[in-house]
Amino acid sequence: QNFMMSCVTDIINDTVDLLNTQAIMKNIEIKKDLDDHIPLIFCDPLQLKQVFINFLKNAIEASAVGDCVEINMKLSRKKDFLHVQIRDYGCGMDETVMKKIGKPFFTTKDEGTGLGLMVSTNIIKQHNGRLDVKSKKGKGTMFTITIPIQ
Ligand code: ADP
Ligand code: MG
Repeated sequence: QNFMMSCVTDIINDTVDLLNTQAIMKNIEIKKDLDDHIPLIFCDPLQLKQVFINFLKNAIEASAVGDCVEINMKLSRKKDFLHVQIRDYGCGMDETVMKKIGKPFFTTKDEGTGLGLMVSTNIIKQHNGRLDVKSKKGKGTMFTITIPIQ
């Protein structure tokens, strides 16, 4: 673990750049909506990047060709929490799948590892954060990562 004051906007921009090639291959646009004036956050930047990579990869994999994927970041009203949302309009999940996600090695993909969400959940916990998910089969999925500021 390597916690330091970090710019989460930079981390998200780096992550999107990293995954853009994979997105473009499916004709998917990753739309960013990041609040200006997000303060520096005490976090592990490499671990947070891993989290954003995992969620964005899942979103791209769940999407059909030509869909879009959105990543938004905003502060809570009191400016004491950071909210990052990753949304897709892809295959979504039914309740049976929803109950199992995040369990080690649970995957519905032929070549999945079923580790991304477990690793991400652990990293979010190490930041005293929270993970929420909303999903509808056939409609899409939205993950919200909430991290306290300092
Ligand atoms: P993997 O991607 O290797 O399957 P993950 O831990 O990242 O492992 O995800 C576990 C499972 O959760 C996936 O196989 C998939 O069934 C489901 N899942 C995760 N993210 C999404 C998403 N955005 N849309 C639909 N299903 C998802
Ligand atoms: Mg994954």
